[in-house]
Parts: sequence; C-alpha cells; structure tokens
Amino acid sequence: MTHWESVIGLEVHVQLQTQSKIFSGASTHYGADPNTQACAVDIALPGILPVMNRTAVQMAATFGLATGATINHRSVFARKNYFYPDLPKGYQISQYEIPIVSGGKINIGEGDTQKQIRITRAHLEEDAGKSLHDGLGEMSGIDLNRAGTPLLEVVSEPDMRSPAEAIAYLRKLHSLVRYLKICDGNMQEGSFRCDANISIRVKGDSELGIRTELKNINSFRFIERALNHEIQRQIDLIEDGGKVVQETRLYDPDTDQTRPMRGKEEAHDYRYFPDPDLPPLVIEDAEVEYLRSSLPELPDARCDRFIDAYQLRRSDAQQLTADRGIADYFEETVREAGGNSKIAANWVTGDLMAALNRDNLPIEQSRVSPILLGRLIYRISDQSISGTIAKDIFSDLWDNGGDVDQIIEARGLKQISDSAELEQVVEEILSKFSEQADQVRQGQGKVLGFLVGQVMKETGGKANPKAVNEILSRKLSP
Ligand code: ADP
Ligand code: MG
Repeated sequence: MTHWESVIGLEVHVQLQTQSKIFSGASTHYGADPNTQACAVDIALPGILPVMNRTAVQMAATFGLATGATINHRSVFARKNYFYPDLPKGYQISQYEIPIVSGGKINIGEGDTQKQIRITRAHLEEDAGKSLHDGLGEMSGIDLNRAGTPLLEVVSEPDMRSPAEAIAYLRKLHSLVRYLKICDGNMQEGSFRCDANISIRVKGDSELGIRTELKNINSFRFIERALNHEIQRQIDLIEDGGKVVQETRLYDPDTDQTRPMRGKEEAHDYRYFPDPDLPPLVIEDAEVEYLRSSLPELPDARCDRFIDAYQLRRSDAQQLTADRGIADYFEETVREAGGNSKIAANWVTGDLMAALNRDNLPIEQSRVSPILLGRLIYRISDQSISGTIAKDIFSDLWDNGGDVDQIIEARGLKQISDSAELEQVVEEILSKFSEQADQVRQGQGKVLGFLVGQVMKETGGKANPKAVNEILSRKLSP
C-alpha cells in the first residue's frame, strides 16, 4: 500500500484593527448599514488618490518583528487586476514583488513534536467589498463598507504535513496577532480568514504534488474537516489512475464535501504592475527600532515564564497563555489571591472558562472580575471557606455580582474550624452512624471517608474537612 503524505501551505488574511481604511479615512467599524462607510476612494470615483494609513504599516512591521522576519525598508504596492462586482476599481492594491515583510517563522507543537513553520512573506493589501444576496430576490446587492479595509496576508511555506499541524499553526498565528493587538481575531466577522493549499505525494518524495486551494473557511473545525476531506479526495483520485488539477475549490460544511469553484489563475493573469498612485513604502530604521522596543511579551516567552514563576504544568501554562486576555486575567487573579498560582490556574482553566463558554462571552466581558476571583481564592487559602462553598459563591457572583466577603457574611458560609463546635457535630454523627463508627474502630479505614462526608453534609459543607478528619481519627483510634 502506498504511503501518502499531505503537504499544506496556508495563506491567512489578517484584518488589521485600524480605525480607518488602508488608503482612505472611512471607518472600518463592522456591522454598519451597507455603503454607509465607503467614501469616494473606496467606491473608486474617478480622480481619487489613495493615501497610506501609517498605523497599518506599523502593524505589519510589528508582525514581522514578532516572527523574526526581515522588514523591507522599501516595499512596493502593485495593482492586481481582475473584474468582480465588489471591486469597483477593477484592481486590488496589494504588494507583489517586494512585500513589507519577508521570511519569519512560527513554532508549533512542543517537546519532541516541536516544529518551525516558515513564513514566506506578509504583505499589505486592501480588502474588497461584499456581494449581498439574502432577501433581494433575483438581484444581488453590493456593500462596499469592507472595501479598503487593511489586510495583512501571511503566506506560509508548504511546511505542514497534516491537518493537525495546519490547525496548530493557525491557532498560534491567531494567538500572536491578538497578542500584538493588530487584529481582533473574530473569525465569524471575517477578521481572520484562511485559504488552504494542499497536495499529496508519496512519502519520501522530494517534489511537491499538484495542489488545490480551499477558499475562505472561517472556523478551525471546518478547516480541519475540509483538509481531511480534500486529502482523501486527492488520494482516491490518484489511486484510481486520475490526476489532481490545480484549481480553487469550495468547502461546503453542510455536505462535508469540496467542489470546484474555478481554475486557478496564474500570477500573469492578474497583470500585476506597480501602482503609479502610490510611492514606494519606506519605513526608516528608527521607526522599526521603536516598534521593536514596543513589542509585548510574546506567547512562547510568556508560557515559559508562567511555568517558571507560577510553577505550572506546561499544558496549563499553554492553555493560560494562548490568549492574551486570559493570561492577563490570570496574572491579576494571582496578585489578588496572594500568590496562590496553582489554585488560580485551576479556577481560570476550570470554572471561569466553563462559565465564559456557557454564556459565550470573551474574557474581557467576564462577569466575575479577576479581582473578585482573586479574593475568592484568597478566602479558600486562608481557610475561611472550602473549595466546594467557593464554587457556590462563584456562581452567585457570576449571576448576581456582589462582593466575596459580603456574600460569605450574609449567607453565613464561613468555614467552621472551631473545634468545640465541630466536636459536637462529630459526636452527633457518631451516635447516628454507630455501625460505621465500629467498622472504623475495627480497622476499616475506608469508612472514615463516609463519616467525614456525613459531617460535611450536616454542616452544609461549611466544616473544615481537615479538622473533621483529625477529630474523627482521634475519636475512633482503637
Ligand atoms: P499563489 O500565488 O497562486 O497564491 P504561491 O506560490 O504564493 O501561490 O503559494 C500559495 C501558497 O501555496 C503558499 O502558502 C505555499 O506554501 C502553498 N503551496 C505552494 N505549492 C504547494 C503545494 N504543491 N502543495 C501545498 N501547498 C503549496
Ligand atoms: Mg496567493
């Protein structure tokens, strides 16, 4: 049986989160009424001239610096010519021969499976508008609000060998652009879109096979499914004696199939040429150095620091640092919790993430602030409350707001560590469950847990389990 190997290269369109468009002053805000955010430049009135948005340039260079790429001090905008109703100029302004960013790399995996994916280039370009079909009967509408939105197209080398590696790369890239605050990463709104190029070859071959391209798949889950499907389609095709043709295919999540969309254009079909309306884009050394000094701590470095400074397992540290917002939240929680990093890690990766997922909220809109969660954890560690009661308080805070100490006070949830009070409850339980008490006295240690549980139940979870254990053991020692 032939051993096939898949080869994947990704082109990701990262929408840069500037206030205004790449060559005009119109707003990039998402969700406005059609064509209310398209100015003369975006709708391509005759005589208009593009003016470069400096923030978009800085964001692109920041990305290059964060991936160890070369920032080209002089790059060139080109016209990519094609006709489509959502592109009123008849060409898209992009970068072709000299992009602003060349080279660079992104690490995926860990330990033995760690791997570097090379980035070929990252170039600046403008987005096109959108065609609208819903509710328009036989007609199509054109919304040019998105026209001119700045994009950074990040092109990888064909370095990935499985859908899982492709997803790992995408997640890392997604995390990175959010860390750098150059993209909001919102995939539903199209702020992070991926085209996947894929081919197969016999394992061990050095030449690449003919590739197909899957366009604009906007969720990690669908990308993985689409890739798996396309790999299988190519294998079946070749094993049946057929040939893969280079083409663009569309993935349909409803049928879990890909179908041809169009033959792949070659670069010469686009008649690229330098845009005479824009001078070469020059970025000075001083500006690059300023941007370098403004880089935040990046995900890999932050993950290593979390392992070191907070004594976390790598898997926890990775989970906590994958998103900058979560990492910030965690660090603030630990500060407020008096340094109890392990308990804080459990809470953030556990109850907090579950609650955010349930209510479909981003960390920035968490209904429990890191300060509150920190205080709650502090009360667990100073033994004012048990972990079980803390979960209850957390739900209360999430649903109704309030303050940790107030809730503990008002609902009488303070843990009972007072031994006189506990002794009394223990006595009651021992007489109620005398049979089990005898079993413990006769050496059946396991039954002790049952009795501890009964005391906890009797006190509504407020007894300090450690103290209960001690008292019971002392009373039942033979
Ligand atoms: P185009 O100009 O048609 O978009 P590029 O040469 O820029 O083509 O490559 C686009 C993407 O396709 C890159 O991410 C590259 O790594 C990937 N790629 C190129 N050849 C192959 C191949 N044979 N198999 C898989 N991916 C490929
Ligand atoms: Mg391309």
